[in-house]
Amino acid sequence: MNILVINCGSSSIKYQVVDPDSGEQRAAGKVERVSEMAGGHKQALAELLKSLAQHEISAVGHRVVHGGSDFTESVVIDDDVLTAIEACVPLAPLHNPANLAGIRAAMEVLPAVAQVAVFDTAFHSRMPRRSTTIAIDSDTAKEFGIRRYGFHGSSHSHVAQRAAAFLKRPISELRLISCHLGNGASACAIEYGRSVETSMGMTPLEGLVMGTRSGDVDPGVVLRLCRELGIDETDTLLNRNSGLAGISGVGNDLRDIESKAAEGHEGSRLAITVFAHQLRKYIGAYAAVMGGVDAILFTGGIGQNSVAMRQRIVQRLDFLGVQVDEDANRDCKLTAQQDVWDISGETARTRVLVIATNEELKIAQETARLLAKENHVVSEKAIPIAISARHVHLDRATMDILFGEGSELTVYKEISQPGQYASEQRVNLVGPRNRIDGVRILGPLRSKNQIEISRTDEYKLGVDAPIRGSGKVAGSAPIILEGPKGTINLKEGLICARRHIHMTPADAEHYGVSHGDEVEVAVCGGPRDLVYGDVLVRVKSSYLLEMHIDTDEANAAELSRGATGELVYEVPSVPVVATLRSRR
Ligand code: ADP
Repeated sequence: MNILVINCGSSSIKYQVVDPDSGEQRAAGKVERVSEMAGGHKQALAELLKSLAQHEISAVGHRVVHGGSDFTESVVIDDDVLTAIEACVPLAPLHNPANLAGIRAAMEVLPAVAQVAVFDTAFHSRMPRRSTTIAIDSDTAKEFGIRRYGFHGSSHSHVAQRAAAFLKRPISELRLISCHLGNGASACAIEYGRSVETSMGMTPLEGLVMGTRSGDVDPGVVLRLCRELGIDETDTLLNRNSGLAGISGVGNDLRDIESKAAEGHEGSRLAITVFAHQLRKYIGAYAAVMGGVDAILFTGGIGQNSVAMRQRIVQRLDFLGVQVDEDANRDCKLTAQQDVWDISGETARTRVLVIATNEELKIAQETARLLAKENHVVSEKAIPIAISARHVHLDRATMDILFGEGSELTVYKEISQPGQYASEQRVNLVGPRNRIDGVRILGPLRSKNQIEISRTDEYKLGVDAPIRGSGKVAGSAPIILEGPKGTINLKEGLICARRHIHMTPADAEHYGVSHGDEVEVAVCGGPRDLVYGDVLVRVKSSYLLEMHIDTDEANAAELSRGATGELVYEVPSVPVVATLRSRR
């Protein structure tokens, strides 16, 4: 199988034809000055494909730098995907437009071949919120989509997998710090196979010192520069005239800087020490984030080639169990046959590995995986998820007993389903083992009492509540309710609510489901992906589209307000008409 991997920049197209299974590279190269060609990217790709005519291309994998919050993994490209990538342009104005130009050109030139987008950001999409959150006013952050995403995902994930294979240990047991040091540079804490922290943030400007980018700066410096130089010049300064080039004054290539430093050039010496110092700080921080580290991985042009820089970075990391063998470090030479070198000394507790990155192979493998997958595809319309805390519905007679004859519920706040509200009134639940006080009553009153609790609540109360759909309380569990005016010993009414989706007939038609169907809903892209099975579909014209789950269920997937899920369809292969797994 041949996958054409395209990495499209504004002025150049890097390409490879790769067999994703063997890793064999069948062709590779770079087309320069694309923007100066008459037909732009399309013309360049058409000519490129002519030159690759002897290779049968099964699919095209595109590197896309920014997938925003929408793309948590690779996708087969269609019109909606193109629109969504377009929507990420403000997050990566230098990269995404070029990536899109490459995709559009490839779709025109190879209309019958599947095209897949592989995002630099996707590997980091499950970082915990403490890593993605930027500590500014949360409303402002939400309004402008300000959060940390991370980049170089294909490289970090590739070297992590190679490290695990080399160490002959499952990746799910390893805590790795991957250092991708090229013109762009980033570090990544990979805990048991997952990115949990990375040094690049909302844009590829944060973090390590890079070839021409500054990496971390005090935001106060940015404000000052904006005032002094204006926004555009500050942008140019931080992105193009900073980093190794900015400090050294001799350009962005570390080879030149190292030569100059050897000759005693002060700026070059400083650039090298600042670069190493900044990364050493990150390594220490990431070891703390993961509570330890099993291996530090060096990759990228600098990481793979600069013996002196590697040596300098790991100096003083012996407290982490790092010990580098100087000879092994000097002799390290990566080849196609040996793409991983262990440069650790004999007594090292933490390995230091030098690994050849291969983002193109990773993109080819992702493309093949996506196309071959026994597919579960998800509907494109997300379902909002509401998390129901324990609550109580009362009938008229019970209300009279608990709150006094003729008493009424008063509105505390409206809830999402039309006409329903959380009331100001609360009751206490008393079980054989324990009690839970202050449980809110939802209004208006109903024809039957219904008390909805989670499994955790059951253990506390010491009761077994059956899982039931709303209204199905016959034969459910007993419970004592205490109100301000009286107590009632209910023979039934206590349930653990069955997870369900409210939807209108129009929604039901959209998803191809009917009232009473059982479906699966997938929650992807958060810290803990989960597919909820046995979700009951409830259709009524007065409903608002919303899935209801309890707090235990939400905690299992670490969901919070604003979470959404997607209906899962089982299909034999892509692309085909979806068929829903439904049981009545
Ligand atoms: P990119 O991020 O553009 O893909 P690379 O990963 O190819 O960049 O890294 C390019 C950088 O690697 C060069 O700018 C240079 O600084 C550095 N580099 C490459 N070879 C060596 C070497 N032998 N010694 C020191 N630095 C090197």
